[in-house]
Amino acid sequence: MEMAVRKIITLGNPILRQKAQPVSKITKAEQQLIDDMFETMEENEGVGLAAPQVAVPKRIFVAKWEGETYALVNPVIEWRSDDLVSGTEGCLSIPRVQAEVNRHLKIRVKALDRNGNKIVIEPEGWLARIFQHEIDHLDGILIIDRSDDLYWVVTEVDEEGKERTRLIPTTKSAIIAAFQKRKTPVRR
Ligand code: ZN
Repeated sequence: MEMAVRKIITLGNPILRQKAQPVSKITKAEQQLIDDMFETMEENEGVGLAAPQVAVPKRIFVAKWEGETYALVNPVIEWRSDDLVSGTEGCLSIPRVQAEVNRHLKIRVKALDRNGNKIVIEPEGWLARIFQHEIDHLDGILIIDRSDDLYWVVTEVDEEGKERTRLIPTTKSAIIAAFQKRKTPVRR
C-alpha cells in the first residue's frame, strides 16, 4: 500500500476543536489513514499523531516510542493512576510552543488495533503521556488548555553562527491570537 505524508493542520482550524467521531468499521480507508499518519508523524519527527491533526475527525491515533509503534482506534481510558507527573510537551499542531502539562503516570486504555482486534494497553510514564495527549486531541483538547506554564520556543543564531533556543513565557490567549493572525510572534 502506498503511503503519503498528509498536511498537518494548526491551531485556529476548527477541526482541532471538534469531538472526533468513533469509527464504526475499519475499512481500507481507515487503514490507509493509519499508514499515512505514521508516514506524516515520522516526516515531522513526532512521537504521536491524532487523526484530527490531519483534518480527519475520527477517533484514531498513532504513536511511536522506544522503537514500538501503536495504532489505536476508538481508544477509551478505562483507568488512571492517582499520581500526576509534570512534563514538557509540544504539539505538531501548535508549532514553536512548549507547555508543562500534568498527566497521570499510568493509564489503562482499551481500543481496536489496525485490524479491528480488541486490545488493552497499560502505558506508563512517557508513553502514558503521549497516549493522554493524543486522546485529548480526539476530544478537541489541546496542551494550551491543560497548562498555565506556556512558552514560545524561539531559535536564535548567535554571533558565532550557533543556533540557540530561548523560551519566552506566554499565555493561552496570546498563543491563540498569534495563530489566528497566522503570524509568528514578534521577538521580545
Ligand atoms: Zn498534539
